[in-house]
Amino acid sequence: MEMIKIVLAGPRGKMGQQVVNMIHNHENFKLIGVIDSKNNGMYLHEVIETNIKDVTVYENCEEALTTLKPDVFVDFTNPTTGKIHTEIALRLGVKSVIGTSGFNSSDVERLQEIASKNQTGCIIAPNFALGAVLMMKFSQMAAKFYNEAEIIELHHNQKKDAPSGTAIKTAEMISQEWKSEIPTIHSVRLPGLIAHQEVLFGGQGETLKIRHDSLDRNSFMKGVAISINTVQQLDSLVYGLENILF
Ligand code: NAP
Repeated sequence: MEMIKIVLAGPRGKMGQQVVNMIHNHENFKLIGVIDSKNNGMYLHEVIETNIKDVTVYENCEEALTTLKPDVFVDFTNPTTGKIHTEIALRLGVKSVIGTSGFNSSDVERLQEIASKNQTGCIIAPNFALGAVLMMKFSQMAAKFYNEAEIIELHHNQKKDAPSGTAIKTAEMISQEWKSEIPTIHSVRLPGLIAHQEVLFGGQGETLKIRHDSLDRNSFMKGVAISINTVQQLDSLVYGLENILF
């Protein structure tokens, strides 16, 4: 099978370091460059602890993508940078897998237009954990039978956006069933947490709780790998892992 050449933005970050390891351990993936907010021109192994050699750090996304011409661009940075990088990649026709959160529906619509215009595949997923996707799907199923629900999302205290992309997406999926109301979202930020979400439905004399816990950032890597493989076949933007899994 042919190697998929990847450029990753955010390699020093908590998620980025997991992605570096996942790519290194995947037989069909090859990391050919990284984009960082600093360390321009250095090698990745000088910046983080890794056995991958000869991967150059770029500070400029456009320069990295035009120079290296990867098959897939992957972004785990922050909401502001992630949106800029995604737009650059799609305008250059580079297929992209975006894990960075903080994209609202108008951001997604705008990027969908750019992706379609350039016939470039892109997957933006607020949550790559397979269990989290099932939690969203089960919540949508439950919404057919309950008229009231609240979402409690809990994350580590360095998370920059609130509510989480997963919570917003879950609320949208529930409100698709309700056709009007949007469930209330509560955001909790505490040290010690990674990524957790509870969807609580209330009915006559009963409650239903649907909960997912990411206990380790490794939980996201299977979804990232599936997306890197799947985006090869896409020529438009897909928002949400559930739209490629089911
Ligand atoms: P993090 O630890 O803060 O890492 C972000 C990295 O991006 C940092 O190394 C940061 O560098 C770098 N960065 C900032 N600006 C940049 C730029 N212009 N070019 C290149 N790199 C830049 O955050 P994280 O926990 O890894 O999370 C990253 C993103 O993924 C967040 O949006 C988070 O919500 C999201 N996330 C998504 C999922 C999912 O399943 N989709 C799961 C978990 C997290 P500096 O430190 O120098 O700023």
